[in-house]
Amino acid sequence: MLQLSLLDPNPSDRRPARVGGATIDYADASAILTRPTGRLRGSIDFTLNPYQGCSFACSYCYAAFFVADEGQRERWGEWVRVKTNAVERLRAMRVDLRRRTVLMSSATDPYQPIERRLEMVRALLPILARRGASLAVQTRSPLVTRDADLFHEFRRARVGLSITTDSDEVRKRFEPRCASIEQRLAAAAELVDAGIRVNIGVSPMLPLEHPAEFAARIQATGAQSVRIGRFHESNVPFAAGTRDGALAIARELGWTKERQASAAAELRHHLQRLEREAA
Ligand code: SF4
Repeated sequence: MLQLSLLDPNPSDRRPARVGGATIDYADASAILTRPTGRLRGSIDFTLNPYQGCSFACSYCYAAFFVADEGQRERWGEWVRVKTNAVERLRAMRVDLRRRTVLMSSATDPYQPIERRLEMVRALLPILARRGASLAVQTRSPLVTRDADLFHEFRRARVGLSITTDSDEVRKRFEPRCASIEQRLAAAAELVDAGIRVNIGVSPMLPLEHPAEFAARIQATGAQSVRIGRFHESNVPFAAGTRDGALAIARELGWTKERQASAAAELRHHLQRLEREAA
C-alpha cells in the first residue's frame, strides 16, 4: 500500500501524476466529513468524498455542476484531486458516528482507478467502523469488492452499484471509462455472496436492449433491491441534471421520455415477475 504522507522519501514515485485518462493532483482538504445538502438530507448524516473530480467521466454526470472552478467543470472526467490528509483528518475528528450514516461518496466515485494504488478508502473505512457509523457506498467500480471484509466491520453497510444499461455499446457511448456491464453484475454478485447488502441502481437509466434479460441478470446477482432512476432531460445547475454531451447522445439514440417510461415499466414488470416466481 502506498502511504500518502508528506514524509515520503520520493513523493513523485509514490504519487503518480496520471492514472487512466485523468491527471492526478494532491492537496490537503479543509474537511473530510461534510453535512449533506439537497435531496440527501434526511437519509444521510455525513458525506465522505476522499477524492475530488472523477476519472470515470460519465457524460451525464451531475457532480460536475458542483465544482466551483469553471475550467475544472469543463474538464470533468480528466482530473482527480487526492485529498492527501483525508485519513489524518478523519482520525483527528472527535465526532460520534453512532446511529449516523455516512455516504461515500456524493460528488465522486470513491473507487477511482488511483484508489487501487493508494488504498485511501481502505484506510478510511476502519476508522468509520470503529466510530460506530453505518455505511452507504455508491460506486460504478468493481474495485469495491476488494473491501468486502471491511464492510463487515460496520453496524450496517450497504453498497449501491450503478448499472445504467444492459448494453455495452450504449455504455461505451455514455460512460466509456467505466467497467463493463458484466464486470459490474459480477461485482454485485460477489458482494452478495460475501454477505453484503447490495442495491443496484439503474440510474440514470440509459437505453436498454433486452429489459426481460436484463431483469434476469440483475436478479441472478442476488441484490436485495433495485432502483430505477430516470435520465433527466435537463441540465439545470445544482439539480441532478444532465450534461450537454449526454443530452446529445440521448437525442441521437432517440432516448425520449416516452421510450424511457416504457423501458422502465417493462424492466420493473420483469423484476417484479421474477421476484414473485422466486418467492
Ligand atoms: S462515476 Fe459518478 S461521479 Fe464519476 S463521472 Fe460517473 S457519475 Fe460522475
